[in-house]
Amino acid sequence: MNRIAFLGPPGAGKGTQAEILSRELKIAHLSTGDLLRAAVAAQTPLGEQAKSIMAAGQLVPDPLVLEIVAERLRSLGPSNGFVLDGFPRTLAQAESLDGITPLDHVVAFEIPERVLLERLGARRQCPKCGSVYNLKTLPPREPGRCDRDGTELVLRNDDRPEALRTRLLAYHEQTMPLLAFYDRRGLLRRIDAVGEASTVATRVRAATADRPGPNARPHP
Ligand code: AMP
Repeated sequence: MNRIAFLGPPGAGKGTQAEILSRELKIAHLSTGDLLRAAVAAQTPLGEQAKSIMAAGQLVPDPLVLEIVAERLRSLGPSNGFVLDGFPRTLAQAESLDGITPLDHVVAFEIPERVLLERLGARRQCPKCGSVYNLKTLPPREPGRCDRDGTELVLRNDDRPEALRTRLLAYHEQTMPLLAFYDRRGLLRRIDAVGEASTVATRVRAATADRPGPNARPHP
């Protein structure tokens, strides 16, 4: 089975790589950031609760995130697997995930902060369909417009410098402890996330092709 989670700071390329891997392996791509942004856009009760928290760059409270993840995983039914992009992000989320499904691989994206800041400053997104571009490395065909639907591209609210600082801090304080958590179980695969998307995709493929290491404990 390919039950995979991606861990890494904002801007590490998790979303791009999750899209590539899910297409290749024909597995579901579950991005909590995308699900939350969709809830905000649709003004659902969950979206209304999450909106200002996300704009500030903070993590949305665990119970809210768990609710949407559990629902999405249930709705997958029998499948080849999934790639979780941006989840889990706290120890509480990782422990709750254990009660829902085991994982086969956890890929940790390693990247210097300097490269992250460069990438995020150049990142633009389509507010309508969610497509992501990079002004330097993956520009749209027509400047400033989405290739898919022609909508004007925007800098994500939480890619602005102040929210970004908060997001990086949240990653260091709340998500980094998960590296040790999954390493202890023999599930962690560290990859170098610097380079072109296709180069990084090769590393992701290699990291998720092997079987869990000797330290892997059976899951409940
Ligand atoms: P992302 O697109 O993954 O960078 O997520 C954007 C924002 O959504 C984050 O900065 C958080 O506010 C929120 N978010 C996404 N995933 C999670 C999660 N697993 N736990 C808490 N908040 C999340």
